[in-house]
Amino acid sequence: MTRLDHVTGLVCVVCDKSYPAADNKYVCPDHGSEGILDVRYDYSLVGTRISPDSLREESDPTMWRYRALMPVDPGASVPPLTVGGTPTYDAPRLAAAVGVARLWVKDEGRQPTGSLKDRASAVALVKAAELGADVVTTASTGNAAAALSGLAASVGQANVIFVPESAPEAKVTQLLAYGSTVALVKGNYNAAFELCMAAAEEFGWYNRNTGFNPFMTEGKKTAGLEILEQLNWQVPDAVFVSVGDGSIIGGVHKAMKDAVALGWIDHSPRIFGIQAAGSDYMVQAFESGEDVLTKAPIAADTVADSISADLPRDRIKALAAVTETDGVYLRVTDEEILSAIPALARGSGVFAEPAGAAAYAGLLKAAGEDLVGSSDRVVVLATGNGLKDIASAMRAVSSAGTEPMRIEPSLDALREAMKGT
Ligand SMILES: *Cc1c(COP(=O)(O)O)cnc(C)c1O
Ligand SMILES: [Zn+2]
Repeated sequence: MTRLDHVTGLVCVVCDKSYPAADNKYVCPDHGSEGILDVRYDYSLVGTRISPDSLREESDPTMWRYRALMPVDPGASVPPLTVGGTPTYDAPRLAAAVGVARLWVKDEGRQPTGSLKDRASAVALVKAAELGADVVTTASTGNAAAALSGLAASVGQANVIFVPESAPEAKVTQLLAYGSTVALVKGNYNAAFELCMAAAEEFGWYNRNTGFNPFMTEGKKTAGLEILEQLNWQVPDAVFVSVGDGSIIGGVHKAMKDAVALGWIDHSPRIFGIQAAGSDYMVQAFESGEDVLTKAPIAADTVADSISADLPRDRIKALAAVTETDGVYLRVTDEEILSAIPALARGSGVFAEPAGAAAYAGLLKAAGEDLVGSSDRVVVLATGNGLKDIASAMRAVSSAGTEPMRIEPSLDALREAMKGT
């Protein structure tokens, strides 16, 4: 029997109806794929099991140090890969360049498969094992797929992955190296998602899909808990998060709500949601006040493949993350995203893929619009590794005008060439 005595229920974000954790529902049956469930905890019980003091004594550096605040059996075995515990770097030169008091970059590119998605997929593997699933599946723009694939490989779990055929080569290569059954779908992420959903239903596979499986956000929230713990529970003024389906930003918000409910912090930071101009569903809804339950999908197109989403699956939580924390949704152009890659790398040493650098581009935009200023302490969540998408990084450095010296192997040639630098 799975012990989940600290989970009081799973609550539909549309109708507030609560379902027992033991029902193992993905979504509210009354509201289908909009009826995303939010895991609720008995905080007085959780508070007896975990606290900032107990965490100081905790020797596990991975995301599982927060397991008492996650929807898993406290005694469950977890995949062996080291997920979480990523550094939050102080970046004073970038802070000065942006014009804020402090700036930290959380480097999620250090995860086992190179993105924050490992936090969610690690939880998926634990839940799949709990249910004795034969096969786990997901659709993904690439990183959730690589994460599920790598975590599954670490425990020998069979899995089937659906990605759009346009996914960057590095991400597809990861899937193949880890030995997943890979379907390259002739269509976009939306098409891959719909096919994966139908296949999971048809074949009874465990479904990890973002914005459908209620436990994924609970894994992603550990990034937010780490930010707080690494900043010694001194709440930053703002956190910048790039948004595709909206599950990461919802997770960061959940971390803040949990920490407030437990009395670990007394307020949430402002959460800023950053989208690509070509994939700006949430920004549109934020600006127009449209209801995200009825707002039609857009036709997303951006260089930042990880945040390209026609219809953000976790849009209800994603909107709440910003509106309930007095944050702002902002859009950045593909050019701004690309130029943020070398700027972030040069200013902090963190090399991010386009979707990761987008959060930094968003901070620059926010500073330009005086939404943050010289007294603010801000965190940029760099969600994925720059090596995930070399083609975009090469475009970025060449438009930044960075060229290597091409020289004969002699000191004279080097001296000559260096005159021009
Ligand atoms: C998935 C992903 C995002 C966006 O997360 P959502 O939950 O889809 O909003 C941002 N950056 C990277 C690198 C990602 O892999
Ligand atoms: Zn409902």
